[in-house]
Amino acid sequence: MTTVVTRLGTLADAHGRVARDLRMSLTDRCNLRCTYCMPADGLAWLPTPEVLTDAEVVRLIGVAVGLLGVRKIRFTGGEPLLRRGLAGIIAGARALRTDEGLSPELSLTTNGIGLDHRVSELAAAGLQRVNISLDSLDRERYAILARRDRLDEVLDGLAAADATGLRPVKVNAVVMRGVNEVDVVPLAEFCLQLGYRLRFIEQMPIGPQHGWDRASMVPAAEILELLGGHFTLSPAPGRGSAPAEEWLVAGGDCHPSGTVGVIASVTGPFCATCDRTRLTADGQVRTCLFSLTETDLRTPLRSGATDEDLAELWTGAHRGKWAGHSIGRAGFRQPDRTMSAIGG
Ligand code: SAM
Ligand code: SF4
Repeated sequence: MTTVVTRLGTLADAHGRVARDLRMSLTDRCNLRCTYCMPADGLAWLPTPEVLTDAEVVRLIGVAVGLLGVRKIRFTGGEPLLRRGLAGIIAGARALRTDEGLSPELSLTTNGIGLDHRVSELAAAGLQRVNISLDSLDRERYAILARRDRLDEVLDGLAAADATGLRPVKVNAVVMRGVNEVDVVPLAEFCLQLGYRLRFIEQMPIGPQHGWDRASMVPAAEILELLGGHFTLSPAPGRGSAPAEEWLVAGGDCHPSGTVGVIASVTGPFCATCDRTRLTADGQVRTCLFSLTETDLRTPLRSGATDEDLAELWTGAHRGKWAGHSIGRAGFRQPDRTMSAIGG
């Protein structure tokens, strides 16, 4: 009997980093039109035949986990809850084993709309955590930012995730100058009260073309100033490759103690410790959100490539991963695809 020995590799790059965290985009479509992410009219969606099928998604995740040392998978989009086969994909990923012999960690980044109806099914399939985007607790401002009046559905989704035990529930908020700086403190208070982990994200130049400029971006320092004016903050120990710089918040009259994070992707990039790899909904590897090139896995996958062939292509892409993005410096070029089409 012949024993087939599969060589286990890693997604190592020339800068000493190893990618263990896969951002898997399941669709480029979305039911919101957040101003920092998408144009008001939406985008030209990927034609269905170009989108990986559920079985193809699970196979590529299997290559990443089984052959390339990936240990965490975050499903994203576009809006991943729009993907009908989501629970089946999660179950398929859950059945895999990492190089440490464990199931990969599975989480979902979502706008939360409709989550209340599906969260039990997703948790039963193996989903462990959710990150829910919420930029304002004010109905009008939420509708201005998301260009849809759907705040109540997001809040229902949050409550359902918490009730189902997908903890800690994480909340992502992008702060837009002149729009929702006033929401920084109320969002933090709300999350502390309910035990959600809030992370503010600096707006990045990855939305509608030419819709970003450094001067109007609200930097992490300013967000911290707003928070510091209301809460007693101290730096949380340890950071590793986690993008959120965590702060401990002392308990106050209206809230218990907790943490709040600020992701300074522009003013304090964490590229040197980046452990991410990305796969778009149409099967293209991106080694960085801001990459200007992609490595096609879908064509070889559909032309009979073996798992080892696909792993080799993926590894090759990472060998060439750049040291970091150059937002704000001369020569920075925004990628052609926007956030929702790459997978945030
Ligand atoms: N639709 C899901 C959601 O909104 O959570 C998942 C996809 S969305 C692209 C993922 C994350 O990217 C969200 O938290 C969103 O706020 C963030 N995002 C989108 N455009 C951004 C930008 N230009 N700068 C910073 N974050 C952005
Ligand atoms: Fe949709 Fe998420 Fe982009 Fe908002 S941030 S438009 S919810 S993909």
